[in-house]
Amino acid sequence: MVSFDGEAYIATAETPSDWESVVSDMCSRVNGWTDKRAVIYHDGNMLNYASCVVFNRQQYYLFVRYPLSIIVSSVRSMQIYIIVIAAVAIVISFVISYLLAQRISRPIKNMSGTAARMAEGDYSVKFASAEYQEIAQLSDTLNYAKDEMKKSEEFQKELLANVSHDLRTPLTMIKAYASMIEEISGNDPVKRSQHLKVIIDEADRLTGLVNDILNASKVSAGLSELNKKVFNLTEFTYSIMNKFDYLQQTADYKFYVDIDADMYTLADEEKIGQVIYNLISNAVNYTGDDKSVYVSLKYVPEENRIRFAVRDTGKGISEEEKSHIWDRYYRSKDTHNRPVKGTGLGLNIVKIILQAHSFDFGVRSEEGKGSIFYVDFPEVSSRPDEV
Ligand code: ADP
Repeated sequence: MVSFDGEAYIATAETPSDWESVVSDMCSRVNGWTDKRAVIYHDGNMLNYASCVVFNRQQYYLFVRYPLSIIVSSVRSMQIYIIVIAAVAIVISFVISYLLAQRISRPIKNMSGTAARMAEGDYSVKFASAEYQEIAQLSDTLNYAKDEMKKSEEFQKELLANVSHDLRTPLTMIKAYASMIEEISGNDPVKRSQHLKVIIDEADRLTGLVNDILNASKVSAGLSELNKKVFNLTEFTYSIMNKFDYLQQTADYKFYVDIDADMYTLADEEKIGQVIYNLISNAVNYTGDDKSVYVSLKYVPEENRIRFAVRDTGKGISEEEKSHIWDRYYRSKDTHNRPVKGTGLGLNIVKIILQAHSFDFGVRSEEGKGSIFYVDFPEVSSRPDEV
């Protein structure tokens, strides 16, 4: 504590030898002391702090001196610490982000490589899963898409093979019978008309097949709209069954019918024709060696509906197959001898048409015993002229 001018001040630093000159320097810098006034300044290599406080009506001065070199060196070492810490943090964050980016991008890079191979037609590829949920989901979805594309390609190849086979059979028949007329039966009216009938029937089958393919794409593309009207389902079913007469005469097929008289329904007649035709065709194609097909059309009064059912005595459909038969292009793998053309589209067309009508339909089948395909039509008591 050193007093000057009747006042007092406190020195916390070492009291320098030239203390008096320091104090007078400070007094010259602090012009007119007032309460709470403070100044900071440096002289030479000392940092000085001076302030004035009033206590017990007495004015006191606080004076602190600190060597500048200590502050400068601690600021410097602080700066060095900060720079080193910042540099280490930058390097660590760079390394972490690089590793993270690698970890995220590696599976994506793998996937894009796999997708490129798939785009070239290699469906044996497999999208690898990853630990990140989103990427794992993406790889699952891509695997699913790949499986579906593979299936679709196989189906299309199979369809092409089936269609070309099914087109070739009637064409061969037409050509063979035309040659027979030219060479053998040309002058025999009875034989000639028999042979001409075969040609006409085969041409009809051909037309049916082509129509089926066209219909399938039209129906499944949802292009055609329903044109509903009331019609006589009994007569209509008979008229479709007539198309299979040639099988009774030429291939010993036996059709057993149990059809109620004069039943009317409301539906798109042309499309229901495709449904009934396709179901009977399948029964013909897949029935057993007895070549029997049972067609029934019965009124179910308690439900006010007409049940159409077609039964065959074939080898039936396994539970596993049942879930696929309505799919587009699905065809059983066995090389079953089919008297009626088949494209693997028939049941898919049936499904699309019946779903559009909201009619109940389905299949019951027992392996080794045969299958029953059924459709429930709404019964309409009013006749077309009364509508
Ligand atoms: P396609 O008969 O031309 O193969 P469909 O779509 O009509 O095509 O039938 C799909 C598949 O359903 C058939 O390949 C066959 O495996 C099965 N299927 C259809 N109808 C029957 C049936 N009545 N008996 C046994 N299997 C059938």
